[in-house]
Amino acid sequence: MYTCTICGYKGLEMESYGKDYPSREVCSCCGFQFGEDDDKGISHDGWRESWIEKGCPFWYIPDCPENWNVEKQLKEIGVVYKKSDVIKNSCPVCEFDGLFEPAYDEEYGYPSDDICPCCGFQFGLDDYPNKNKGIQKWRENWIRGGFLWYSKNRVQPNWSATEQLILLTKIKN
Ligand SMILES: [Zn+2]
Ligand SMILES: [Zn+2]
Repeated sequence: MYTCTICGYKGLEMESYGKDYPSREVCSCCGFQFGEDDDKGISHDGWRESWIEKGCPFWYIPDCPENWNVEKQLKEIGVVYKKSDVIKNSCPVCEFDGLFEPAYDEEYGYPSDDICPCCGFQFGLDDYPNKNKGIQKWRENWIRGGFLWYSKNRVQPNWSATEQLILLTKIKN
């Protein structure tokens, strides 16, 4: 077994660049195909970065080891990865950090039209006509209402209102 130089997975059947040719093997873990994806001009670092950004999805699930520990695996090839380092889209109202897309476009500030599954604020609707006031008001109401989780369809298993509120108070002060 050989180690993938991109993700550190130790289950490659061939050496990725053994002898003269790349193996053309697809890493079951990060999904990179040696000799194919790099031919397209994708760098190892670039692939790793975007894979981490996606939250390190295991490419070929049947090969995924039990108790797979991606942090440890990456550490072994010298990559420091903490789940908290991944860029997250957080809600400006309640600080929930699992929005599917940024609430407001970074460049132009366009709202996403999404509804925050946590506090129920809709970007592009409830922030009208005054964004800052709308956000503040919604936040106050949400806290006063007992900061309840809004979306029944998107329940977060480990969601903690208190943790999020600590973040909130940090921002406000
Ligand atoms: Zn890999
Ligand atoms: Zn929210």
